[in-house]
Amino acid sequence: MGFMLSSWPGGLRASAALAILVSMPVSGDVHLKSRTARSEPENRVYRAKSRIEGRHHLLVHFESTPGETERAELHKRGMRVVAYIPDTGVIVGLTGDPRLDGLSITGYESLTPADKLSAELFRPTRARAKAASRDYFLVEFHEDVSWEDRRALIIESGLAVRDHADLVGNHMLVSGPLARVQSLADWDEVAYIFPASGDLATGAPLIGCMGAAAPAGEVGQLTQRVGEGWDGAGLGPAELTYTIEKNPSRIPPPYVETVLQNAMIAWSNVAKIRFKKGSNTVATKNINILWGGVQHGDAYPFDGPGRVLAHTFYPSLPNPEPIAGDMHFDESENWNIGDEVDLFSVAVHELGHALGLGHSDVPGAVMYPYYRRTQGLTAEDIGAIRMLYESGTAPAPDPVPVPVPSSLALAVSAPTAGAQVMTPTVETRGAVTGASGAVTVRWTSDKGTSGLAQVVTGQGGSLTWNAGPIPLSIGANQIRVEATDALHNTKIAILDVSRLQPQTEPPPPPPPAPAPIPLRLSVSTPGDGSTSSVNSIRVTGVTQGGSGLPTIRWISDRGFSGTARTLSPSGDTRQWEIQPLALMPGVNQITIQATDDESSSASILLRVSYQPPAAPTPPSTPRPTGDTIAPRVSITSPNTTYLVTRNSAVTLRGLATDNDIVEAVRWECNCGLSGQATGTQSWVIANLALPVGPNQIRVYARDRAGNEGVAMITIHRYVD
Ligand SMILES: [Zn+2]
Ligand SMILES: [Zn+2]
Repeated sequence: MGFMLSSWPGGLRASAALAILVSMPVSGDVHLKSRTARSEPENRVYRAKSRIEGRHHLLVHFESTPGETERAELHKRGMRVVAYIPDTGVIVGLTGDPRLDGLSITGYESLTPADKLSAELFRPTRARAKAASRDYFLVEFHEDVSWEDRRALIIESGLAVRDHADLVGNHMLVSGPLARVQSLADWDEVAYIFPASGDLATGAPLIGCMGAAAPAGEVGQLTQRVGEGWDGAGLGPAELTYTIEKNPSRIPPPYVETVLQNAMIAWSNVAKIRFKKGSNTVATKNINILWGGVQHGDAYPFDGPGRVLAHTFYPSLPNPEPIAGDMHFDESENWNIGDEVDLFSVAVHELGHALGLGHSDVPGAVMYPYYRRTQGLTAEDIGAIRMLYESGTAPAPDPVPVPVPSSLALAVSAPTAGAQVMTPTVETRGAVTGASGAVTVRWTSDKGTSGLAQVVTGQGGSLTWNAGPIPLSIGANQIRVEATDALHNTKIAILDVSRLQPQTEPPPPPPPAPAPIPLRLSVSTPGDGSTSSVNSIRVTGVTQGGSGLPTIRWISDRGFSGTARTLSPSGDTRQWEIQPLALMPGVNQITIQATDDESSSASILLRVSYQPPAAPTPPSTPRPTGDTIAPRVSITSPNTTYLVTRNSAVTLRGLATDNDIVEAVRWECNCGLSGQATGTQSWVIANLALPVGPNQIRVYARDRAGNEGVAMITIHRYVD
């Protein structure tokens, strides 16, 4: 949701901000998508068809952005403000001739049918769009038109009204041939017509970005943009700060900041908008971000779960500081990362409003008025932001500190381990600690049944769970209990329960096993105390003896760990390898442990030093001067900005483009590792080693002039 304020919030804190606001000239133009309306229109009234004799809607141009006083005065004269059209226009509904004498207006005019038809309706690509959505349209009505009139007008035009539970206030979903839909624009009641997305056509659940009830009126779909952006008129760069005043309770703060930064990077990768972390929530040119409840300190209360997810204030000008650009999220939503409600998808849309963008008519665009899961901007969004700001790439915000890995723990308090029962079912309970956000506990029996446990929040946020009755078979039953928190951290507990058969002989004791050969473990390469010049090595070795095929785990004192791969799984001498094993500069102590079926184990300590090579001297080839456009870099695989994995390494692939030549692609992880990618325009980072916990990886592409573009991915490695 994008907000426009035309009157200043009570108790404006910074008088300096007020001075800036008053001293800057306000543009007199009115920006419709169809045209930029002149600041002094002829007083032209076009009488469109109307269902109510004499009623019509007019676009009134003021000398400067109208506020509460002007709105009240219009109301007194029988004109109702139904929309605000930046910078200085409002749409009013009235009956008869307008009485505008004595108001500080420069003129008025009717909207024409051409103003109401999105150019997107006539794009050739649209004619080829999937049949399912090609004949579906959204019709925005003026808010003072009754639902009965909206419906009658559509049906009498030979079109069908389609139901969708998630339509926002003034939208009607309509299907039928384009020619008939076009004829709706001849009616005064209609404000705007644009294509419906496939999700709307198929009835998929959606959340719309609501229009705002602000003093100057809602900013409708027919609006091109709100203000000139933070750089003022023309295409310039912008420097903004951000502050996070209050975090959501569901997601730990470092993750929140990482996701918000990813949303910022999406925009600063394509336009020269630089975001830096600020410290003053009421500073000018600061985007203050908070999660709030129903009442959260402004005039726009949230509505609890569902419907309104967030609202954002458009930039200054035209909004006043310090609230301009601020983003408010509804605390009662089910916020998540990579799952519904996906924070990145909502944040990147809201940030578009904070930068001055209105809603797009293009289904699939981030700025389309219905949120959808997204990984990044579309060509449409990039084109829109480049109509407000200089195109190019701005540096990414400084990375946030590494969040502490999850401390999620799961305990079973009843029944006790190895319990023996006579009953056909069992009930089990326990506790969960260290969870991030909401917790789900699920149980699965090896006899084929499963279910959800009830999770109870106690005093001080302690979590207990209980499950059952769980059916038991005669003999041994294994019940797996799995707890998952909001960040997809998972902990598993295994519960063994024996159900005894009544009145039977105890089973005969198992025959004595032959004495086993003790388990032995050795490392073949590299030698203990050796030195490596690369940050990732292969370790090989063998195991002998023991019972069954041993599992070989390793952990380094520098935060890495993993499991070895067995190369020759049969015979007495079994070879294994660890590939890759990541090293940090200095001595790395690696503990390797083998455990066999009988739980006997053997371990060995391996010390390897990593000495990074000296930094290469920069190439001496002459560099083209005057090139200030940074390459654009994108990560195409994995195709997400946030990945959760059990794997100890990941391979990244992507693309880089530039107006000149992409010279090199390198990467940096906030875990301390870094390196070069293979390739430039199409690049690969193979087997990038991941420490346990969240890792922010930035991929930089550099051109010959030294400009760097960046893409970022957060990969959270967890272990069971
Ligand atoms: Zn929106
Ligand atoms: Zn708010």
